Amino acid sequence: MTAVAVNRDTTVDWMRRFAQEMAEHRQELVELDTAIGDGDHGTNMDRGMRKAMEKLAESAPGDPGAVLKTVAMALVSSVGGAAGPLYGTLLLQMGNALANRDEVDVVTFAAAWRRGLDGVVARGKAQPGDKTMVDALTPAVHALEQAHDLDGGLVEAAQAAEQGMYATTPLVARRGRASYLGERSAGHQDPGATSSYYLLRSAVAALAD
Ligand code: ADP
Ligand code: MG
Repeated sequence: MTAVAVNRDTTVDWMRRFAQEMAEHRQELVELDTAIGDGDHGTNMDRGMRKAMEKLAESAPGDPGAVLKTVAMALVSSVGGAAGPLYGTLLLQMGNALANRDEVDVVTFAAAWRRGLDGVVARGKAQPGDKTMVDALTPAVHALEQAHDLDGGLVEAAQAAEQGMYATTPLVARRGRASYLGERSAGHQDPGATSSYYLLRSAVAALAD
């Protein structure tokens, strides 16, 4: 039995699926961000991931770490606002953790996610419960760290991200633009937590076959 592994091709497929999700859910993310922000999260992420796919096609990086670093750089350079640099940090730190690695197993992949999440927290200073992407990523990374295999672990991580995403709805935002609304930010699902759930769901799909 061959174990599922994160390699160059599955990483490219993951990013391609995430770009697709950002295109398909652009309007949904715009509406979520219109309620508690400035309405650009869907267009930001869609534009950034389109750019990332162009860069991947041009440079054809040879391993998972290089793929993620290429996407990270494209996001940082093409997306204004909070989420571009934060997703850039997440994927850059993951890419650093996976530098020159291939056929990555669940332990190494979970460690890469942990490093990425630590980067997001160091940069954005959000803690769980602040109503940000950290609320989806934190339980997902935790689930992956508990996992024994990659595909099952990612399914659990995506479920945890989805629950974290839904759990942002009643919260009052303490970071990012939504925090300007104070109590009025409660009752709306966080856009960045939603795109983070799609990032996990894309990984599940990429590793499923
Ligand atoms: P902007 O808020 O600059 O318009 P986006 O709309 O693209 O950027 O992204 C908004 C999302 O970014 C929020 O829904 C939230 O999840 C995330 N976010 C904002 N600030 C932070 C932060 N300091 N830490 C973590 N995530 C954050
Ligand atoms: Mg916005």
